[in-house]
Amino acid sequence: MTQGPRGADGVLAAGDAWGSALTDVAVAHRSWTLDQQIRLTQTPAPTGNESARARLVQLALRRAGASTVRLDAAGNVCVVLGEGTRPPLVCMAHLDAVYEDGAPMDLVPVHRDGPVIRAPGIGDNGRGLAALLTLARLLRAPELAARLTRPVHLVATVGEEGDGNLRGARAWFDDAARQGMTPHAVIAIDGPGDESIVHHAVGSHRLRVTLHGEGGHSWVQADAANPIHALGGFIAAAARLGNVRSRDAVVHVTRMHGGESLTAIPQQAWVEIDVRGTSSARIEQVRHDLRRLVAWHTLPGLRAEVTVLGDRPAGTLDAAHPLVEAAARATARVGCTPRSAVASTDANVPLARGIPAIAVGAGGRGGGAHSRHEWYDDAHGARGIERLLRLVLSQAAG
Ligand SMILES: [Zn+2]
Repeated sequence: MTQGPRGADGVLAAGDAWGSALTDVAVAHRSWTLDQQIRLTQTPAPTGNESARARLVQLALRRAGASTVRLDAAGNVCVVLGEGTRPPLVCMAHLDAVYEDGAPMDLVPVHRDGPVIRAPGIGDNGRGLAALLTLARLLRAPELAARLTRPVHLVATVGEEGDGNLRGARAWFDDAARQGMTPHAVIAIDGPGDESIVHHAVGSHRLRVTLHGEGGHSWVQADAANPIHALGGFIAAAARLGNVRSRDAVVHVTRMHGGESLTAIPQQAWVEIDVRGTSSARIEQVRHDLRRLVAWHTLPGLRAEVTVLGDRPAGTLDAAHPLVEAAARATARVGCTPRSAVASTDANVPLARGIPAIAVGAGGRGGGAHSRHEWYDDAHGARGIERLLRLVLSQAAG
């Protein structure tokens, strides 16, 4: 295979035919990408029930020319482009969306308002999924396929949002580990945008602490242990565990409930606690401290119940890592300013396992994610696709 002049981004220098061809290719696919985005967004995919949208992605990947599209046991849609035994590049986009008003039974209404498109999930992650399909289409084209130096796995994942707890990504990396495969790098494609590079993964640990007691008349059984009093002490102590300034672990009691009557000692009370942070070690420490506080505040006559509601690993990739630098160069090449960002995405899973991973947007502008007011503007949509393509090629092509 002949090689063209290589640029600093590991793909090809600005000004050569190939470099500008990538711009043309992204622009040429702009409306195709947007059509996919709208079509996928219309099909509801609440976390835990992504199968209808997964089938659509499966079909679209086949139409894009991918011959072996696989649905794994978790419900992820998986396809491999290129071949060889080198560690693969993995690109992931999550299938599920958040519906503020509950999951729609039928089609999700999509409204066009000039250049702006409004629909829950249109950006997060209709845009990311559409970009994944565009990658499948572009990387199958002979000119690009011939340049792949390692396999590229495209994965549309289930269970990224909320209590999905990154279920799909976890299952995929568990499978890969069982097969002895360690990816070269992972790119999570999540939402719109063409500037930010997420290389700090926010981890979280969520739990509910319930205290049960005997209850009773608040005068006659006045000496019975009171779960709300005990939880009051627990809350005050738990609030002191986090560090808002460093953000290595932030602790918030986010919900509480308890008691049955104004004139009775409560039989039960509960609080929910949201621990988030950029340090797995600190989150682990807080988790341990919370258990200790629960034991401490479970006074005689009370019984504690702790339920884990969510668990996401944290992780960080150094800004000087070649993957982060390649993303910064791809961002600059399309005329945008790279911005370091912190978020919780599918990239949390590989990062926590020591596999280089970042998350990037899939172009365009957007806002109102996870609400009924979510919007997307495709004015510069092609730029984000070009950035993504350049990044992918920097990792998987010669
Ligand atoms: Zn997302």
